[in-house]
Amino acid sequence: MGSKTRANTLKQFALNIREVPEAALFSHVSPDGDCLGSMLALGIALESMGKKVSYYNTSPLPDNLKFLPGIERISRSIPEDLPANLIFIDCAEADRVDSHLVNNCLPTRTIFNIDHHISNTLYGTYNYVDVTAAATGEIIYSLLRELKISITKEIAINLYTAIITDTGRFSYSNTTAKSFKIAAELVKTGIDLVAINNILFERKSLAQIRLLHKALSNLVLLKDGSIAVIVLSKEDFAETSAEENLSEGLVNYARNIEDVEAAVLLKELDNDEIKVSLRSNSWLDVNKVASKFGGGGHIRAAGCTINLPLSEATQSVVLALEEALKHGRNN
Ligand code: AMP
Ligand code: MN
Ligand code: MN
Repeated sequence: MGSKTRANTLKQFALNIREVPEAALFSHVSPDGDCLGSMLALGIALESMGKKVSYYNTSPLPDNLKFLPGIERISRSIPEDLPANLIFIDCAEADRVDSHLVNNCLPTRTIFNIDHHISNTLYGTYNYVDVTAAATGEIIYSLLRELKISITKEIAINLYTAIITDTGRFSYSNTTAKSFKIAAELVKTGIDLVAINNILFERKSLAQIRLLHKALSNLVLLKDGSIAVIVLSKEDFAETSAEENLSEGLVNYARNIEDVEAAVLLKELDNDEIKVSLRSNSWLDVNKVASKFGGGGHIRAAGCTINLPLSEATQSVVLALEEALKHGRNN
């Protein structure tokens, strides 16, 4: 697939960023390795250029990302007196950060939008959206090169994390030769690959294993095994003492079952607040399905939040997946 409209070239985007004396950086709610790693790498680079930088994420940060260099600089609450320039990283829509911010600050600020989601709405004053990038981290790498920033170990750890999380360790269909090339450059800085891999993918807390047990026992197959569904209720999280973000990756257990095309994980964050993760294996466009519920993402990985009771949300999503599968590959 080709690039989505690039409202700006990377060169132009870099020139505009170079002019900025101070910036506030934002990444999306329910943060992942790509949004945090990309935000920190860019922030560290901008600081090395002498700029004043602040970092925001309104969600709790996952424990397994707390090793990222610079993570202690991220604030959870967004102040009213933000600088004139805001940089949104890995956010398909501005309200993936915070709806208050969107309603109150955005109209009066210059917004830089750096992302790789196919559903990106080009909400920025300047937009650089490359849907062929496997991770926003790849874009940040190219941007830093454009800005002639030397890649320090701190930056490399953040960008390597961004790339290996969004590519599933170079295994998802978004992985390209460029992903490997950039990773190779990052590895040259001497980062500890084994340690990073262990922290991100191998080491699990007991609560996480208990949540996995719940998820697997709740897994059901529908429509001749073409749809796999995992539902996690508030009680499941309470009984396992697991935070919501420990469910990262669980949807892959559903997707990995042979003959499954569509996999979905529904998490009850609160009453009538259901976070949905959608995945497909070979042809179904789950970005389209997520967009029916006001969400978005990529063709093989997308998400949305549904404000309905858990059972109704599950029914609606399953129905939408059945419809999409019924319409087949040509729609
Ligand atoms: P997740 O299932 O949370 O791992 O998300 C899969 C992909 O969909 C990621 O690229 C997310 O950024 C994107 N995504 C998840 N939820 C939403 C949403 N509500 N709106 C737009 N994109 C989303
Ligand atoms: Mn992300
Ligand atoms: Mn991403």
